[in-house]
Amino acid sequence: MELSLKGKKALVTGGVRGVGRGLVLGLARAGVDVVTCYRRESEHVASLERELKEIGGEHSIIRADVSDPDQVTELIGECERLHGKLDVLVNNAGTISHIPYAELPFEEWNRMVATNLTSVHMVIQKSLPLLGEGSSVISIGSRSVEAGVKLRAHYTATKAALIGLNRSLAREFGERGIRFNILRLGVIETETLRDLPDDQRQAMISLYSKKSAFGRIGKATEAAGAVLWLASDLSSFVTGAVIPVDGGMS
Ligand code: NDP
Repeated sequence: MELSLKGKKALVTGGVRGVGRGLVLGLARAGVDVVTCYRRESEHVASLERELKEIGGEHSIIRADVSDPDQVTELIGECERLHGKLDVLVNNAGTISHIPYAELPFEEWNRMVATNLTSVHMVIQKSLPLLGEGSSVISIGSRSVEAGVKLRAHYTATKAALIGLNRSLAREFGERGIRFNILRLGVIETETLRDLPDDQRQAMISLYSKKSAFGRIGKATEAAGAVLWLASDLSSFVTGAVIPVDGGMS
């Protein structure tokens, strides 16, 4: 049994940094041609470009805000122009903030819903003409949905909604051979954590490490491993599922 991903075409949203970058690189190393997008210019765009060039393959990094319907249309149009199809779609782009619920501004609620939920709906819906028999749609969920986290009611609400969307789409598009799954991540190390002041970073790592069966937080490469499996035919009978990648977090 082999992954056999060579030559497949993928879109990973929000892939220039964080978890998404690990997913883009993991797919590229497995021989997948990857399109990814980002919202803000940063040094991460050029560094990803360099890394992808070293790996080889037909990759593209496009500036597109997935909470904007017109930019989603352009992004998917670009995927069609470049590759004509999508074998793998990873809805990774997401945002988070920590605000007491009683003080949560309506604008922040709307921003969270637009970025974490409506964007996923728009990207999937506009990608449908490019998704064929055997395509795999993977959305990045969060362990915090079940745990519940203070100051994150708006974030967890959007991630919980992805579960319903995923399950219904799995049923609606099963006959077309398109699979829909969610990776429910625990705490994964990203630049955001690495860039915190030393004491804050250590406190965060220590807090979340204790909750894991391995006594550590996860790496983006470990999320990528699950994406590779879901992208491949090895998971051909898996759909509508929420798969934990959280180090056995309690
Ligand atoms: P980061 O903030 O490190 O990275 C988020 C990425 O998404 C960035 O590349 C960002 O682009 C992009 N992005 C955000 N909003 C948009 C948008 N509107 N349009 C296009 N791109 C956008 O987050 P993480 O890597 O930590 O999180 C990635 C996903 O994993 C999210 O869905 C998150 O909820 C989920 N997750 C992460 C966990 C973790 O521990 N890291 C735990 C559980 C879930 P730009 O660089 O331009 O801002």
